[in-house]
Order: sequence, then C-alpha cells, then structure tokens
Amino acid sequence: LPAHKISVADYVSGIANGDRALLARAITLVESSNPAHGRLAQQVLQELLPKTGNAVRLGITGVPGVGKSTTIDQLGMNLLAEGHLVAVLAIDPTSKRSGGSILGDKTRMSSLAQEKNAFIRPSPSSGTLGGVTRRTRETMALVEAAGFDVVIVETVGVGQSEVAVADMVDFFLVLLLSGGGDDLQGIKKGIIELADMIAINKADGDNIRRAESAAAEYKNALQIFTPHGATWFPPVLTVSGRDNRGLKELWAKVLDHRKKMTATGEFETRRQSQAVSWMRDMLEDRLMGALRANPSVAAELPKIEQSVRDGTLLPTLAVERIMTMMGI
Ligand code: GDP
Repeated sequence: LPAHKISVADYVSGIANGDRALLARAITLVESSNPAHGRLAQQVLQELLPKTGNAVRLGITGVPGVGKSTTIDQLGMNLLAEGHLVAVLAIDPTSKRSGGSILGDKTRMSSLAQEKNAFIRPSPSSGTLGGVTRRTRETMALVEAAGFDVVIVETVGVGQSEVAVADMVDFFLVLLLSGGGDDLQGIKKGIIELADMIAINKADGDNIRRAESAAAEYKNALQIFTPHGATWFPPVLTVSGRDNRGLKELWAKVLDHRKKMTATGEFETRRQSQAVSWMRDMLEDRLMGALRANPSVAAELPKIEQSVRDGTLLPTLAVERIMTMMGI
C-alpha cells in the first residue's frame, strides 16, 4: 500500500510495536508537502502522543570535519551495547542547496547503519528552516513512540539551525577542535551560550596536550556565560570519537544533567517551553504556507516586491496590502 492508504490505526499499532517499515513510511508522510499526507500524519501523531517524550534527546553540533559522524557512530554503538535503541536525525536547511543531504547520511555512520536497534534518518531536504525543524520534531515524536530511548539530533553550524536544535533537545553538545593558539577565535559566542557541554574532539595521539589546553580555555570562557548559582555548569571534555575515548564520561554527563535538571523542575520547564516553540514554529509554517498558496497573493507578490524595490511602495504598506489580500 502507498503511505497515504494505510489507516491511522495501522500506523499507530505498527509504530507502537516498533515496526520499522511503518515508522519509515509515517516519516515520509510527515515530510510530504501534500496537505492530505500532512493531515494523516497529524492524526497518527496525535494518537501516538502518550507514547512520546521518553527518550534522552541529545543535540550535537560542530563544523564539517569536527568528527560528528565518527563520534555519533561510536557513541551510538556504545549505547546499543548498553541495550539502548538509538535514533539519529539531522537538521540541515542547506542540504537542498548543496544537492543532497549530507547530515545523517547512513554511509557516514557505517557501524550504526548496520545495527537493527539503530535508526538513521537524514535531514528533510526541502523547505525553510522552520519547515525542516517542524518535520524533525515530528519525526522525533514518531521514533520515540517506536521505542527509541535515545534520539540524537545532528546539525552543522549554519545560521540558525543550532538554535533550532537546541530548542528541541534536552542537552546540547558542541563539538570543537583545538586550533592551537587562540582557540576562542573560531567559535561564535552565541553557540557557547547554547552549549550544555563542550567536547574537544580528536584528543588522540599528538593532539592530546593541545586538546587539554583548549579545554582549559573554553572552561574559562564558559564560566563567564554561566549565571552564578545555576543548576548546571557546562563541562568541557576532551574526547576522541575515533578511539572511543571520553565517550563514557560524555554520556555520564548527559545523564547527570538530566538527573539534576529533573530534580529542580528545569527539565520539565524546558520540555514545556519547547512544546510551545513547536506550536509557534508550526503556526508560522502553516501561515506562510497559506500565504504562498493564496492565488491573489501569488499573482500580486512579484509586483509588490518590485514596487518596494523601486521605492514607490513602503515595506509597511506592502505588508498591509498582502494582509488585506489574506483577509487579516
Ligand atoms: P563530520 O563532518 O563532523 O561528520 O566529521 P567526520 O566524522 O566525517 O570526521 C572528519 C574527519 O576527521 C574524518 O577523516 C575522520 O576520520 C576524522 N576524525 C573524526 N573523529 C576523529 C577523532 O576522534 N580523532 C581523529 N584523529 N580523527 C577523527
């Protein structure tokens, strides 16, 4: 059966029983731009809602080459060995432009890709960041309902995608490299503020000492950003994804964070405000979709934009005109 011909009940019971084929097809529905598929996906999600929310949601960011896939592959294997079910999702709003999804590509995580208790899904490859974010959130709900108890969301340091990932996970990990010398140069201040932990990767061989000194620098930097008396002070670790070094400690920090934040109620508060963010993103996505789908807006928009460009129409008036066309 094609994905849109399967009943809601079949999706719900199949996914709840961990059926991977149905899970993959439900994700296809979530990613589809067809409104009928979207409605079906929403019904499935609504039914599965009570089964969601139980995973440890870990976000990982870092520039290309920092070792995200190597580290996720190894961390994922460690977690499988402990009996976890591991899903890896990705957010990469540039993947359409660059001609194919790079993040979350199965070939990048070759060990994990062969494991039946792992599920790897590349970034949805079309649309705005808001659209990609919404789809990834919904995919996260589906994999949780299917029993995955660790969900890793990977992103690359492009624009706002880190903020989007930080806003859907419990713990945001920033992977960095030691640059030698002035290590703080390379990192955007905003990213440090989002980080629940920094891990300096490739701390192996000749590089260990340099990684340690970079870690010391970042520790100082993080102290500036962490409010006095905070429940959590973001630790800085050195790891080697390649050599499986420091990853046990890394995971222990993730669990320690969860325990501490749960005790103070901050864990629940973060989840609650993320649910509201989800709603707002979706609303924005739907409103923009309705705007683009409106035939009179579609017909007038190029002319309106031209007038704004010419300086014959003020941007504020242009927006007013579009809102009127939408009946708002
Ligand atoms: P990504 O682009 O962030 O996913 O980075 P990759 O995981 O693809 O790694 C980029 C390159 O760095 C590859 O050649 C890896 O083999 C190498 N690499 C990744 N992790 C480590 C590590 O811990 N130590 C060393 N020495 N090399 C690593």
